[in-house]
Amino acid sequence: MNIAIIGTGYVGLTTGVCLASKGHQVTCVDLDQEKINMINSGTPPIFEEGMKELLEEVISAGLLIATIDSENAIKHAEIIFLCVGTPSKDDGSINLEYLKKAANTIAEKAGNHKIVVIKSTVVPGTTMNAVKPILDASGINHGLCMNPEFLKEGAAIKDFLEGDRVVLGVTDKETETIMRELYKDFPQQLFITNPTTAEMIKYANNSLLATKISFANELGNLCKKLGIDSYEVMDGVGLDKRLSRQFLNCGAGFGGSCFPKDVKAIISKGLEEGEGMKLLKTVIEVNNEQPVKMIKLLEKHANPVNKKIGILGLAFKQGTDDVREAPSIAIINELLKMNSDITVYDPEAMSNAKKIFSDKIKYAESARECANKSDAILILTGWDEFRKPELYSNKIVIDGRRIKEAEQNAKIYEGICW
Ligand code: NAD
Repeated sequence: MNIAIIGTGYVGLTTGVCLASKGHQVTCVDLDQEKINMINSGTPPIFEEGMKELLEEVISAGLLIATIDSENAIKHAEIIFLCVGTPSKDDGSINLEYLKKAANTIAEKAGNHKIVVIKSTVVPGTTMNAVKPILDASGINHGLCMNPEFLKEGAAIKDFLEGDRVVLGVTDKETETIMRELYKDFPQQLFITNPTTAEMIKYANNSLLATKISFANELGNLCKKLGIDSYEVMDGVGLDKRLSRQFLNCGAGFGGSCFPKDVKAIISKGLEEGEGMKLLKTVIEVNNEQPVKMIKLLEKHANPVNKKIGILGLAFKQGTDDVREAPSIAIINELLKMNSDITVYDPEAMSNAKKIFSDKIKYAESARECANKSDAILILTGWDEFRKPELYSNKIVIDGRRIKEAEQNAKIYEGICW
């Protein structure tokens, strides 16, 4: 099938590359010319395991091109995916500016019949109340599908190609048939529903995962006080098939472009509807406290004022270069207020961190250099390369990611919940 992808970030690029790998003809559209040039030259603008190899493969097979020319891409596509960002506004609700702009572009340029698929995460009601009226007003004959994305950064390709299920919220039978055809070579079970339910499934999913993490953090904080190993507790809990062990690791808290934004957005939607959203408000509150705990632990062992502090790990988790809402950002900002002399290292996220902190902090070329230049080290991402005891010789180490190897050689070692 001929497919256009509007918005070629983490989700759009993964969607494009994976659909092309199944033989579909894909045109990726973005406003950012630099991204487009990189993609066309076979270099992914983001770090994702397996992305470079698959991108090169589909480009050389002539199955994927990238362009800023939305008109041409839209005109020739049978299916148009909307994968633009839906960032948080100050009140926690989502900003639909990019989505509406992209929908307007389709309305102006589509011409004949199109299937429009919303993959961006949007609160329940958005597809039918914000996107559909734009397309209806243009008079183009269209079908609509809300197809939320469940990929995890760090495992995006694998999750897209063989995740647990594909949710399709469709407006009509014809759209359902075409979407079934699109996904026919994927092994996942298809779950067919209406667009508003599909939107809610995505929020329910991410809110529940974020709740598990905050639950693990709250109990982890208590376990530490009681001298109990919280990881062992969750190993025991995770054997219960109703619960699973995943997302029960305590630590410095969740971040990234999804959990904080999505939980805040559904809280905001709930409040708009007169619901208190008490549980999810607490999930955010517990999460916000974990980075503060890291600073308090540091202060317990060393005064951060004018001290050389090393940050190992900037990305919100290992396997990605994404620093959006990462605990590292809140912690570095706090340390900057204390005039700490900060050196950071992350194997993939350095250039994204430079966009935020520029010359306010120092950037090491390796974990070793970062450690050597620091008196105290905070571990904020669980990259495997941080699991080397020699990095921590004679250092004060505050661990937010259970890198227990750090304990062996450290002068002082303390974990956030252990
Ligand atoms: P992103 O910021 O990485 O990418 C969005 C891209 O859209 C950018 O490259 C931007 O330049 C482009 N864009 C914006 N307006 C455009 C327009 N009018 N025409 C063409 N391009 C345009 O965002 P992302 O992380 O890929 O997330 C996209 C959506 O998917 C969000 O709603 C997000 O919540 C959701 N989502 C993200 C993830 C994830 O792990 N990143 C997972 C599931 C769902």
